[in-house]
Amino acid sequence: QLPAVAFLGLGHMGGPMAANLVEAGVRVTGYDIVPEACAAAREQGVDVVDTPQDAVRAAGVVITMFPSGRHVIDAYTGADGAEGLLAAAPAGATFLDCSTINISEAQEAAQLARDAGFTAADAPVSGGVVGATAGTLAFMVGGEPEVFERVRPLLEIMGARVVHCGGNGMGQAAKICNNMILGVSMVAVSEAFVLAEKLGLEHQAMFDVVSNASGQCWALTTNCPVPGPVPTSPANNDFEPGFAGALMAKDLNLAATALDETGATAPMGRLAAELYNQFVTDGHAGKDFSGIITTLRAGTGE
Ligand code: NAD
Repeated sequence: QLPAVAFLGLGHMGGPMAANLVEAGVRVTGYDIVPEACAAAREQGVDVVDTPQDAVRAAGVVITMFPSGRHVIDAYTGADGAEGLLAAAPAGATFLDCSTINISEAQEAAQLARDAGFTAADAPVSGGVVGATAGTLAFMVGGEPEVFERVRPLLEIMGARVVHCGGNGMGQAAKICNNMILGVSMVAVSEAFVLAEKLGLEHQAMFDVVSNASGQCWALTTNCPVPGPVPTSPANNDFEPGFAGALMAKDLNLAATALDETGATAPMGRLAAELYNQFVTDGHAGKDFSGIITTLRAGTGE
């Protein structure tokens, strides 16, 4: 018997995730502050209610899918005098945050839930809106093993890969480390293509060599930043995302915060954060993150 779910944050990701739970027979009560998101979820069979408190009152698992850690903590504790989710949820509930947020905020949110007598885990995702819709997300989970086992059946409905990464916050840690590699490797692949162009080396020739050599990586062979070698990559479609530059900037800024908090050294990760923040400032927030190659080609990335 799957636990009843309260789903808060029915946006680009949360909407289709909640719909997949409904489709699998889970009872889902939902809430979002945006009426359009509520209407879309209602059409998918989510029992959308008028207040966040009503959404969680009978929930076994409270899932949040919000833009930032501040949203999560405010919702848990109650902002502007409103009753928080922690005050409204029934005994025995598990708080499961799937948003991508700071590791320290994820740990703070879990601690708040535990202090209120609940269990909690973080389970950020990768796979984007396409994966959320298809139910093929990858979940990275941080929390006690018993909590992981409790939420695992729900995550397996919404995702294709579910990995227990350790205690609270370690799901976020895994996600942020992965995306720091991704940001740095996309910049590196793009720089190499721009250098190849200056040297007169054809894109396809460089791709044919590097994709079978030690420079091989996802940024090259799946999300290739030049059109041609990988016909499905966003570069073939004017950098329609894919994975938007704004989200890459967000994740690299979360990495930068983690670097500050831990004292770890990562000059490349920090530089990637700077480049993607500039990419957003330059007006490309909605473009696929592989569009960074146009900034580098124009020589404005230094
Ligand atoms: P989104 O902005 O589309 O959805 C967030 C939703 O939360 C919005 O509908 C908003 O109205 C709602 N919301 C905010 N505060 C609320 C509150 N107090 N109560 C109820 N609802 C509230 O964002 P998204 O693209 O769905 O992303 C959600 C999270 O998933 C983010 O943390 C993002 O970094 C992460 N993520 C997104 C993608 C992607 O491709 N979009 C991929 C991986 C991870």
